Amino acid sequence: MKAIFKGLKELIAGMGITGKHLGRHAITIQYPEERWEMPERSRGIVVLLSDKETGELNCTGCMLCMRACPTAAITIDAPRGEDKKRVLKKFDIDFTICCFCGLCEEACNFSAIKMAPKYEFSVENKNELIWDMNKLQEVGRDVPYVDTRKKKPVKKPDASVNPAPAAAEANPGTAATEPKPETPAPEEKKADTDNNEGGA
Ligand code: SF4
Ligand code: SF4
Repeated sequence: MKAIFKGLKELIAGMGITGKHLGRHAITIQYPEERWEMPERSRGIVVLLSDKETGELNCTGCMLCMRACPTAAITIDAPRGEDKKRVLKKFDIDFTICCFCGLCEEACNFSAIKMAPKYEFSVENKNELIWDMNKLQEVGRDVPYVDTRKKKPVKKPDASVNPAPAAAEANPGTAATEPKPETPAPEEKKADTDNNEGGA
């Protein structure tokens, strides 16, 4: 008897919770017809970001993200060129071992790598979960981000300091800063010789 009352009590409590949610907005969605818009800072997938003007990768190949990655999911090959700058040749991320911790994004100083709020990247072959830099760039192309890089301003030639750079280049011996010797006008020369002749 006691068990029956207990069961009835639990049934009424359950029906009460169901009644409370009747008529409220549904919290589930009809996937795949409806898709969830993930919060901006959610860690869906790691992508590489491109410059908004040139469209080229922001990555400098500094390898800070590779060193920060706790699972060694990032592989970078960026040897130094003749001008000592790194040239990015390879940037792979192995999503079979990535734990989506976001440390790579935190380590990067160049707005080059980001956890993007994207999903639906399941594949049948796990080898397809190793993404190269082209795929990482393509998936990251439409990801909004704040560019925190400090770009160096392009220096324009100052006309007040060097008024005739072209002439100086054509005659390197006569730099614009060198004072020119004063040469008297032809009329003044003639007057001087007349005066000298008259005084003799
Ligand atoms: S993504 Fe950032 S931290 Fe990683 S190599 Fe490129 S510039 Fe360096
Ligand atoms: S999210 Fe974490 S595990 Fe994945 S690549 Fe970045 S640092 Fe490595």
